Amino acid sequence: MSAPTSAWIGLGSNLADPASAVERGLDALADLPSTRLGARSRLYRTAPWGITDQPSFVNAVARIETGLAPLDLLDALLAIERRHGRDRERDLRWGPRTLDLDLLLYGPMRIAQPRLTVPHPQLHRRAFVLVPLAELDPALEVPGLGPVRTLLAGVAEDAANCRAIGD
Ligand code: ATP
Ligand code: CA
Ligand code: CA
Repeated sequence: MSAPTSAWIGLGSNLADPASAVERGLDALADLPSTRLGARSRLYRTAPWGITDQPSFVNAVARIETGLAPLDLLDALLAIERRHGRDRERDLRWGPRTLDLDLLLYGPMRIAQPRLTVPHPQLHRRAFVLVPLAELDPALEVPGLGPVRTLLAGVAEDAANCRAIGD
């Protein structure tokens, strides 16, 4: 296996005990082949994005150290979603879901393929991603866009609505 790559995963859920769903998602990441969980954020309760008329979300991010290639990692994330009861036939994009796993960053790579865009195309606009990323690594560079802390300053208003659970 070649040297592992640091990849960042965004997790979200807003149905049927979302905090447990995100925790199970984090456990599933740790169990992926050739992969170790490097760091995980706290859980955040966040306002829905895109379609605002739905329950609030629980979000978190994780850094994994993985030997999986980007598309293999994407397939592994989609398989975890399916195991957690996500039904893509029924789901609306940006709508309610039991568990959503997005590949945010894969090392310093920029990827533009039909099934996979990295950095995740909405990352820099989403406080529910930038707030937990900044908890773990504010200096993290988003390729082509700059450090997380600078991107977070651009969504400061939304960031006020992302609250760590338990705070
Ligand atoms: P968004 O991508 O805006 O957060 P979403 O998570 O609701 O929306 P999904 O329905 O979960 O979107 O994903 C649709 C498709 O997006 C997936 O089948 C996958 O092929 C593609 N995709 C492209 N880039 C990525 C990425 N970086 N991470 C996850 N999926 C991606
Ligand atoms: Ca998503
Ligand atoms: Ca997704």
